[in-house]
Amino acid sequence: MQQLLNAHQITTMKNEDTCSFCGRPRKETDLLIAGADGFICDLCAEQANLIVREELKKKNTFKLSKSQLLKPIEIKEFLNQYVIGQSDAKKYLSVAVYNHYKRLLQPTTSDDVEIEKSNILLVGETGTGKTLLARTIARMLKVPFTIVDATVLTEAGYVGEDVESILTRLLQAADYNVEAAERGIVFIDEIDKIARKSDNPSITRDVSGEGVQQAMLKLLEGSKVNVPPQGGRKHPDQKMIEVDTKNILFICGGAFEGIQKKIAQRLNTQVVGYGASKQREQIDKDNLLQYISPQDLRAFGLIPEIIGRVPVITYLNPLDKKTLRSILTEPKNAIIKQYEKLFEYDGIKLDIKPSVYDYIVDKAIEFKLGARGLRSICEIIMIDAMFELPSNPTETIEITLKYAKEKLEKANVKRLKAA
Ligand code: ADP
Repeated sequence: MQQLLNAHQITTMKNEDTCSFCGRPRKETDLLIAGADGFICDLCAEQANLIVREELKKKNTFKLSKSQLLKPIEIKEFLNQYVIGQSDAKKYLSVAVYNHYKRLLQPTTSDDVEIEKSNILLVGETGTGKTLLARTIARMLKVPFTIVDATVLTEAGYVGEDVESILTRLLQAADYNVEAAERGIVFIDEIDKIARKSDNPSITRDVSGEGVQQAMLKLLEGSKVNVPPQGGRKHPDQKMIEVDTKNILFICGGAFEGIQKKIAQRLNTQVVGYGASKQREQIDKDNLLQYISPQDLRAFGLIPEIIGRVPVITYLNPLDKKTLRSILTEPKNAIIKQYEKLFEYDGIKLDIKPSVYDYIVDKAIEFKLGARGLRSICEIIMIDAMFELPSNPTETIEITLKYAKEKLEKANVKRLKAA
């Protein structure tokens, strides 16, 4: 800093001195700062400051350090704040993410034991929290993260998106910092939708099923992939960015509807009509997903190479009444907490009677809406109050069971069922 002098203060400064960056002469600037070997004007200095701040921010956003590394138990505790239950899935995910960081932090010059990545598969009915888990993990990560939907993918050359678009998204999440993207995490949702469509090789190509699996293989196993920076189809004039997927962690999620039958077959039992044998009794027939194995995925239509690249398989439990009840009120950003906040904004206290919570949960189960339905039901119950009260504020709004029933019965419940 001492080398920089305010040029106005230098008596020896000449009028013909110019900014070494933009070339403006001294009299056209508000300030010209002299360095050892040149000058910088006020505008260029401001611009340089902006650039420095932006570049440093980019660099630090994805900077990993050992001291920041959360241990698996801490990661799980973090997940607990937002996701109810799903203990096994949380445990697997926490370990996988922790190991992912360890792999990234391992010195390249160490002995020849190389930690390989272990991509993960989360299997669970829709609405049980797979995406929520992935999103929550993303909150605490210091690596670029993106969620992509496998249903839009097709084999190259067909209508739809190429698998490379997954990496385009990751690049965008990393602000086009390739090095950071190469350490990122991708959540591929609905991976079950790219299962082989039938066991018989048919005349028509399976361009959104097996074709996509084949294409995805090279991403999962780790290779150098040319990625169109703006997405869309590859075309010859587009400049590609090379991304190495070796260290990118893939978390896949899917409902795998109907896979229970395959699991049951493998367990040599039937979904209905268990015998009374002791061993069979131990099988929890209401939640067969917990017994899922690579064999079942293969029977479902994933190709063995893909299964081999996703070595960690875990499951999510269906949401029972107790869990749904907790989801309403317990997570850090629980639906009810959100409504409380909305009313609080107008100085109104929201007082919901406990029986209303049970009623909302019962209705979500009755209409088979799962956790997603909780919000729709709450919205119907609250809409009139949210509409009227800001103009006629009261101190407290009491939501009784009678009130909730009235609102829900008046509403077009069929609309909810279709949702
Ligand atoms: P999936 O990806 O399994 O289809 P989501 O994660 O999108 O399901 O869940 C839908 C919504 O339901 C979430 O946004 C969240 O509000 C709620 N939800 C589902 N499962 C849970 C859970 N275990 N804990 C808290 N909220 C949940």
